[in-house]
Amino acid sequence: MLDWSEPSSETIARNTLPLAPAAAGATGLEDIDRNGGRVSVDDKAMINCRADVNQLLPLKYRWAWEKYLAGCNNHWMPTEIPMQADIALWKSRDGLSADERHAIKRNLGFFATSESLVANNIVLAIYRHLTNPECRQYLLRQAFEEAVHTHTFQYIVESLGLDEGELFNMYREVPSITDKAAWALKHTQNLEDPGFSTGTPDKDQAFLRDLVAFYVVFEGMWFYTGFAQILSLGRRNKMVGIAEQYQYILRDESIHLNFGIDVINQIRNENPHLWTPAFQDEVRSMIAEAAELEAAYGRDTMPRGFLGLNAQLCEQYMHFIANRRCAQLGLAPVFAAADNPFPWMSEAMDLKKEKNFFETRVIEYQNGGALNWE
Ligand code: MN
Ligand code: FE
Repeated sequence: MLDWSEPSSETIARNTLPLAPAAAGATGLEDIDRNGGRVSVDDKAMINCRADVNQLLPLKYRWAWEKYLAGCNNHWMPTEIPMQADIALWKSRDGLSADERHAIKRNLGFFATSESLVANNIVLAIYRHLTNPECRQYLLRQAFEEAVHTHTFQYIVESLGLDEGELFNMYREVPSITDKAAWALKHTQNLEDPGFSTGTPDKDQAFLRDLVAFYVVFEGMWFYTGFAQILSLGRRNKMVGIAEQYQYILRDESIHLNFGIDVINQIRNENPHLWTPAFQDEVRSMIAEAAELEAAYGRDTMPRGFLGLNAQLCEQYMHFIANRRCAQLGLAPVFAAADNPFPWMSEAMDLKKEKNFFETRVIEYQNGGALNWE
């Protein structure tokens, strides 16, 4: 608790932030410092920064700005993708096996709430503590993309006439999905306390753990099995509308993931004292634990497997992905070297804007055309 009794004259001196912990960062909503000097690039920092966060320029982290631009260039809406083929297949008696239907539903159920969990974590936990305006600019773009992704699941439910309660409540009803969401929530709940602020090594590491849990694990590992499941169906010409939407989500998510990796690495470079051997081990065990949770989810969604896909291959894929994430963070691998069982996934990731992976149609986005608001 903060002690408000008997403030000394120093603590109420002008320009003293109200009893913030020593190194906590600026939110941007403090009283305006009317005598504040202009921002110098060297004053900017990822966390615990006291430079004015309301001033985007001068830019310090060009990688963050470039990701913001890339996100904007990738704009899409789920309703642009025709669903007729998916609807016909879903309603057909024997177009999909029972195993395929089971996997599709669990897959949609996992994503339907995961996009909201990720969005809530960005807006309610990460944004406040990332004290850099160009990174915040990207977070604002990312938050909107998460809204588009959640919209995608609304659109799929409506198009296919799925039971909305069954899908959206799955993260509370299906243990393998609950376990993943609960694991990630532990890390954001540490930050949710209104009294939480960064500024001590312990708190800064708690913030890093949240970034690892959401960017590296949730978006960077768990989403990838889901993408592989649906894109593998799409490659066999099944649920091609959903598969196309997943490709766009995948394209967005690969930027989210890379932004998260850059953020973590930049914080580490600026604060090497946080990246202790013990903390590195902790991050590696988080990644290993997450791969195990994903293997359980794979067994649950694909108890028997279907053409080209089964729980074992998904587990191998997770080991491959986990090792890659470790390498991106400069950490030793957590699993024995594993080959990528889905080499076609990298093809899907290299999606060119004008032509989609399944070559069913050519897409030309025209943003910024005349809008009529009346
Ligand atoms: Mn998303
Ligand atoms: Fe995302």
